[in-house]
Amino acid sequence: MPFTTKQLEEALTAKLMLNFSKTPEEATQQEMMKASALVLRDVMALRSVEAHKRTRREQKKQVHYLSLEFLMGRSLMKNAYNLGVLPQLRDALNNLGFQAADIFELEPDAGLGNGGLGRLAACYLDSMTTLEIPAAGYSICYELGIFKQKIVEGQQVELPDDWKNLGSAWLLPKPEEAQEVRFGGTLREFWDDGHLHIVNEGATTVLAVPCDMVVAGYETTHVNTLRLWDAKSTKPVDMALFSRGEYLKAAEEEAMAETIAKILYPEDNHYEGKSLRLKQQYFFVSATVQSIAKKHLDVYGTLRNFHEKNVLQINDTHPALVIPELMRIFIDEAGMDWDEAWSITTRSVAYTNHTVLAEALERWPQDLVAQLLPRIWQILMEISRRWQKRVEEFYHDEGKTQKMAIIWGGEVRMANLCIAGGMAVNGVSALHSDILKKDVFKDAYGMEPWKFTNVTNGIDHRRWLSEINPGLDSLIRDLTGGEDYLMQPLVLRKLDDYADDAAVLKALADIKRNNKADFAAYAKQTQGVNLNPDAIFDVQVKRLHEYKRQLLNVLHIIALYQRLQDDPGAITQPHTFLFGAKAAPGYAVAKRIIRLINSLADQIDHDPVCKDKLQVVFLENYRVSLAERLMPASEVSQQISTAGKEASGTGNMKFMMNGALTVGTLDGANVEMHEVLGDENMFLFGLHADEVTELKREGYIPQRLYNRDQRLRRCLDALRTGFRDGISYDDLYQRLLFGAGGSAADEYLLLADFQSYCDAESRMVETYLDQRRWNQMSLHNIARSGIFAADRAVAEYAEHIWHVPHR
Ligand SMILES: *Cc1c(COP(=O)(O)O)cnc(C)c1O
Repeated sequence: MPFTTKQLEEALTAKLMLNFSKTPEEATQQEMMKASALVLRDVMALRSVEAHKRTRREQKKQVHYLSLEFLMGRSLMKNAYNLGVLPQLRDALNNLGFQAADIFELEPDAGLGNGGLGRLAACYLDSMTTLEIPAAGYSICYELGIFKQKIVEGQQVELPDDWKNLGSAWLLPKPEEAQEVRFGGTLREFWDDGHLHIVNEGATTVLAVPCDMVVAGYETTHVNTLRLWDAKSTKPVDMALFSRGEYLKAAEEEAMAETIAKILYPEDNHYEGKSLRLKQQYFFVSATVQSIAKKHLDVYGTLRNFHEKNVLQINDTHPALVIPELMRIFIDEAGMDWDEAWSITTRSVAYTNHTVLAEALERWPQDLVAQLLPRIWQILMEISRRWQKRVEEFYHDEGKTQKMAIIWGGEVRMANLCIAGGMAVNGVSALHSDILKKDVFKDAYGMEPWKFTNVTNGIDHRRWLSEINPGLDSLIRDLTGGEDYLMQPLVLRKLDDYADDAAVLKALADIKRNNKADFAAYAKQTQGVNLNPDAIFDVQVKRLHEYKRQLLNVLHIIALYQRLQDDPGAITQPHTFLFGAKAAPGYAVAKRIIRLINSLADQIDHDPVCKDKLQVVFLENYRVSLAERLMPASEVSQQISTAGKEASGTGNMKFMMNGALTVGTLDGANVEMHEVLGDENMFLFGLHADEVTELKREGYIPQRLYNRDQRLRRCLDALRTGFRDGISYDDLYQRLLFGAGGSAADEYLLLADFQSYCDAESRMVETYLDQRRWNQMSLHNIARSGIFAADRAVAEYAEHIWHVPHR
């Protein structure tokens, strides 16, 4: 295996020759990038064979992590890091006449996800591997990942993301492990040998072909696989259909197969009942469950012990059809009776909830399900009937029966299905899990309290700290006695001891200053903007959503700008506000907010009063690789969602680990951050979740705040007037004061939190002027970020939900 620089050089040279018939001197950067990926892939593929043998031989229980999104980002540097060959790879590339940094930069992000939920799956895959848990991730091999965002005349334009051109170097197609997935058709029942058989006739078949991406763990030879299903038409069947004259059906199958794995739905925290999306979900679920069942049968010869050797963790309700699909296989293919099949299913599946937003809870029209998946629909009806009976017998309350129903009002409710068919239901932060128990799933909790638990999210701290912030990594190693923190993130706590060490605080400040300068150079090169590295880098990067309240951030900046108009001396500390956010292409309000940010940025840019004082920059195409450059350079982390709405957040953790201070509400995992940091190490503001509920119950009238608060009124009025580009944002003004299109006036309580938010920003700036205090706080943030390592979260899943051993 290529571990020395010399061996890597030889392996790269051989790969270039084998794949492109070129010497290193002749090869392009793209070819060298692919060759690097292929060399590491070979090492991991060999280890994968060993890992699978070990799992089979020792009959270990396996974790299957199902997620319609895996936001992997880049893999070259990460895999080299985990394999312990990053320095050698750098040297080898440089010795062969390439710039290692350029090669790494060439790799496209594997953007097979929208935001936090997809990135969580990627971080967990790393931790499951590092903790030596036999595990696999499953998703769809989307041809086009999350769109590339361009800003043209202030507006978002979406471009296709054909990541596979270069990114496919990581993928190992396994056509021999393909599965057939059936859609539509009709059911025929017949008795044979005393058993009722059900066959699906005239169905459209799509072939699911696995493309495996092997991932390395840190300091282990264990590897795991991310299995991405590609959709292909079933060619031999096509020919048969053609020869029988069934041209249309053959064409239909071809078309369906081609579209199924075509695109990732670019919606975050939002649900639309689109037929193609349901097809994607079932395609992915059926292929995954069939492949797991087949491998299990190969080893054990029976499915009766399936739950003892497998656990299926489902990331939100998107893969919820695993429940009826397992039932289908146990009953139709393994010949089990209902009760046995149900007993095994409900001991194999665990469900993670990711949202309490009503518009994001999946509900499928039952007609669509019945037509597209006739056998699954039959099974769902029976699951629903039995569940409803249990609820009735438990509560004798029609209201509760209705609320907990799986099928109701012509719809299939996926969250209720997951609760009924799973052995565990977890939220992703303490507050969120509490809201699930007390509010969203209150009645289910009343009936089966043992199912409900919490696992607060975490992030891969090796990627999000050590790999991307080498300056900070090196300081941490110096202060904590080496690399222990990489496997034991709580070791970071030792940093607290240096809070009064002037040299350490200076080193920390220097690292941040360097990272800011690096980011400024990158922003100049990629976007042509000039960032002042001496300004506060005040950052809000995340998907654009009203509940995340980018608009509240904007209102505060407008207020600041207006103050500067009145008094050019009002700002002494240069302040740069950075935004990055993709809006779902169909989410009109979100797109308007992006345009507003750009209008405001332009206004401030052209106003000489703001020079060297105030700046707003919208960073194009926020994605994992951009986040990796930005986190080390950030000083202020904006986590300002309406309390009760953000399930956890993971961006908040990335910032904290890199020493940024949080301006935030008590929402999601900010609550746990506050627990370890105290009031003195973050800038909290705003209503608490229970106060939000109470205010809405009383009847919230934002116009009153508008009338009462002159500063707020002036800045809302600026939305109507607009800025130097002449665009009015009256629509946003109307939305805040009067509501629109079925949504309440100021649905997310921006006006209610405005004053408190402005005060928090003022406290933040004041603190910034005391650099010693600021650096102390920054050090405390890094020191206490260990609990937000994904290793901790995955260990909790392993111990409390999966019941599998880990390192
Ligand atoms: C971490 C991450 C997110 C999640 O950010 P939140 O602030 O938790 O919503 C979204 N997108 C990318 C690219 C990320 O890396």
